[in-house]
Amino acid sequence: MECTRCGACCVAPDIAALDKPLGMRCPHLSADNLCSVYERRPQVCRDYGADEVCRLIEAPTLEERVHKYLALFGLTAEAEATREKGCTSMRRARGGA
Ligand code: SF4
Ligand code: SF4
Repeated sequence: MECTRCGACCVAPDIAALDKPLGMRCPHLSADNLCSVYERRPQVCRDYGADEVCRLIEAPTLEERVHKYLALFGLTAEAEATREKGCTSMRRARGGA
């Protein structure tokens, strides 16, 4: 399977080396879904190659692909919880409820 540069693997998985939570876009992913730090990307990104998963998560939009990726690995609920936690901490940081 050829990498189609769909961007899903830079959004869906959590990447410890980048402190990137599940389901959140890597800050190094450019608007056209390319790695802006390609030459110095972490090893885990270097080791990641296109495989069967890429085909299974094919969809017209990045959002749908990420959704499918998370569902494939049973991580949908965890990703939602992560997002909710992020929102809560941000609300707190801003002095909200
Ligand atoms: S999910 Fe697969 S096809 Fe999409 S960018 Fe990553 S490796 Fe390439
Ligand atoms: S560092 Fe580059 S290859 Fe790695 S997740 Fe971020 S954008 Fe993708």
